[in-house]
Amino acid sequence: MSVTPDNLASRLAGLNTSESVTNGHSPSAPGSPSSENPRRGSVLDNGTNLGSALGRKSSIGGGARPGLGMTNSETERRGSVGSAGRISRRGSNIVMTPSGAQAVYHTRTNDDVELPHAEKKTIADHLRKYESLLTLTPQRMRMIVHSFEETLDNGLQKDGQVVPMIPTFVFGWPSGKEVGEYLALDLGGTNLRVCLVTLQGQGKFQVTQTKYRLTEEQKQDEGQKLLDFCAECLDSFIRDTLGRTEADGILPLGFTFSYPCSQDRIDHGVLIRWTKGFGAPNIEGRDVAAMFMDSLKRFNVAAELTALINDTTGTLIASNYVDPHTKIAVIFGTGCNAAYMENAGSIPKIDSIGLPKEQGMAINCEWGAFDSFDHQHLPRTKYDIIIDESSNKPGEQSFEKMIAGLYLGEIFRLIICELIDAGDLFLGQNTYKLEKAYAFDTAFLSLMESDITDELLTIIGVFTHFFGVETTLEERQFFKKLAVLIGTRSARLSACGIAAIVSKKGYLEEGCAVGADGSLYNKYPNFANRVHAALVDIFGEKGKNIVTHHAEDGSGVGSAIIAAMTKERKDRGFFVEY
Ligand code: ADP
Ligand code: MG
Repeated sequence: MSVTPDNLASRLAGLNTSESVTNGHSPSAPGSPSSENPRRGSVLDNGTNLGSALGRKSSIGGGARPGLGMTNSETERRGSVGSAGRISRRGSNIVMTPSGAQAVYHTRTNDDVELPHAEKKTIADHLRKYESLLTLTPQRMRMIVHSFEETLDNGLQKDGQVVPMIPTFVFGWPSGKEVGEYLALDLGGTNLRVCLVTLQGQGKFQVTQTKYRLTEEQKQDEGQKLLDFCAECLDSFIRDTLGRTEADGILPLGFTFSYPCSQDRIDHGVLIRWTKGFGAPNIEGRDVAAMFMDSLKRFNVAAELTALINDTTGTLIASNYVDPHTKIAVIFGTGCNAAYMENAGSIPKIDSIGLPKEQGMAINCEWGAFDSFDHQHLPRTKYDIIIDESSNKPGEQSFEKMIAGLYLGEIFRLIICELIDAGDLFLGQNTYKLEKAYAFDTAFLSLMESDITDELLTIIGVFTHFFGVETTLEERQFFKKLAVLIGTRSARLSACGIAAIVSKKGYLEEGCAVGADGSLYNKYPNFANRVHAALVDIFGEKGKNIVTHHAEDGSGVGSAIIAAMTKERKDRGFFVEY
């Protein structure tokens, strides 16, 4: 396989933009069961990019993308390259241009000269150190499962717990008979998606959708403005993509808002706190559903918000709609979270509602918060601590920060920077591109792990094309092994969360399917296999009874099914005020 910077760039661009939404279950998805399942649907991607249609900036240019230059303040803060005119210890130099901008250049003049690279022995030493830091033994995992289970229980007992175990007011499983046309809006962590879902019953559905990236600016913009943008997108989708007019009437809408919200009823949700790097002001502590209804009204959008849901709950319901064996859903995207179905009788904190004890209630665990603040249970490394402390939410989402897509590349980058600082990597090369926080997307780890060439050509491409540094074969082998360590730790920690729910619900003997979704699960090589191996490490052979599979489209199809279930429940007069 030959990898040139160009074809590598297009492969990476493909990973980083809105590809692969052709149907809800890509054949290459790890652990993906099946085209055999008759209860399946299809997704029609119209390929429109609403972001550009609305004249918004492409988010690819967002602050944390590879290949961007530094601002002056970043240069100074890191102190990794010298100030104007001074040669840094890494052989870089900076000059001030007449316009006042800084230009960085590389002092290396002779390409034939062998640069000092890390020696084999040093690399082996480093690898051993990172192995011991990042490896989770079965015994350690069992300890984590134990405390995880306790934490889940605490969240069901009373409000205000670290892992909030949010009742979603999704009452039980779908019948599989839900039908009709529904709009779905999915504000993920990286992407925004607008869909029309046609439920056809018997677990079948069709989806027409539009998807695009959010910019870093939008994530930090005024809360109401962010929601206004969603409303504008939805309006443009209804009018331009679907070609609907006022005469066509109003469609019910499921809004997938995947941030911890406490809910009193299904069309309501107070944002507890932003996660996944969002920081839009004036929305935390407020009812997002009401704010969004306001946006819909002001933009005169022909949609009625029926349900505010979380992607995990949507995934749980959509996966169960096509395969009733699915009892748990997990998202591995920008963030990490899970949902499952609990009996009302086991949720003491909602006793006052007076639901029958056996009544199912989907719980959005918000498990990314496990071990936040106290940090007693997870084996955090100094890299995890740096990520946490330099995040916009220090102390929070401890579990998520060790697992999710937003952070894995950054863990890798921090380790590389540590070795650069120690003078053990890239000596004499200009490493400023690698020194930019969040410059190393988790998609690069996927690419490195899937490089099967002897020379590790893809890895050469990643480092030369995106970061402007040369690597030796030993270094590339080390990078690949490091990616394996980081990816494996993420999968094994995730397995601890799954095992805690399995153990709590007693699903081990009978077994169950776990619907999993998000780019990390769908695209990271071996992720599913590693989760499965970890489940066997935790439970022994019986761990094989728990099988993850690529989930149905929770934030689109799931939200439509939930909207349909809600309508049916209210028509039936069952707990209509919720
Ligand atoms: P969202 O969280 O918005 O629903 P995704 O499920 O697509 O979106 O997850 C986005 C996250 O997945 C980003 O943090 C990104 O770094 C990561 N990601 C994207 N492509 C890959 C890949 N090929 N391998 C691993 N992680 C990826
Ligand atoms: Mg998502």
